[in-house]
Amino acid sequence: MAASAGPEIERLIALLGKLPGLGPRSARRAALALLKRKDQLLNPLAAALAEAGAKVRACSACGALDTSDPCQVCSDPSRDAATLCVVEEVGALWALERGGSYRGRYHVLGGLLSALDGRGPEALRVGQLLDRVNGGEVREVILALPATVDGQTTAHYLADRLADAGVSVTMLARGVPVGGELDWLDDGTIAQAMRARRPA
Ligand SMILES: [Zn+2]
Repeated sequence: MAASAGPEIERLIALLGKLPGLGPRSARRAALALLKRKDQLLNPLAAALAEAGAKVRACSACGALDTSDPCQVCSDPSRDAATLCVVEEVGALWALERGGSYRGRYHVLGGLLSALDGRGPEALRVGQLLDRVNGGEVREVILALPATVDGQTTAHYLADRLADAGVSVTMLARGVPVGGELDWLDDGTIAQAMRARRPA
């Protein structure tokens, strides 16, 4: 692509283009929006980025991102320390928190096992998970991992490693979403929902 702006602007566009969901075209539009609204957008965003860069760190217990270590969830005495929900990334933790119904604690793996990418358990926070479970406080581990090949491989691996830990290991139910029409669902979801049916 021919450079049409100065090197500073091209650099901004190149960095924005590394964000998930932004291709070169939308990065260009985002850069332009920022530059046109310096006071309302560019400068506050730059300040927010600098502050996040300086203050946000990974919780040494669960791996979540927060400005305090341990994070807010880990240090909240009203959260149930006997229940540990294992998630792939912080985004899944945020989604579960938005749901608002889970009152236990979390463990962020930092990825999934992947034969294709050559990612083994040592690349994930598996050792820390086993340490926490063997610490004695945990009674249930919920494996809230994606319904993908890597997600399920990881879930089965963890279930195996936790088999002798004296805790109950559960997985999230999969099936029909709230408000979901059956004829809109994919076959895999319907099959899962049928297998996971429960007494009415
Ligand atoms: Zn934490």
